[in-house]
Amino acid sequence: MAKERTFASKMLTKADKIICPECEGVVEMVKVFDSVKSEKTDAFKFVGNMVQVCKCNEKEVYG
Ligand SMILES: [Zn+2]
Repeated sequence: MAKERTFASKMLTKADKIICPECEGVVEMVKVFDSVKSEKTDAFKFVGNMVQVCKCNEKEVYG
């Protein structure tokens, strides 16, 4: 019995687009950097967060 190949199905999953149920637009993953002030060192550092952006929140995310 040959093992079933799952590579093709993985590729398809990766290419799938996320559709927002509210605006029915394509959701993009965007890395957003926030400046966070450290209480210990009193210095600002940048923290990157992956954010899902669609028409519902693009104005908030991009300013
Ligand atoms: Zn949306």
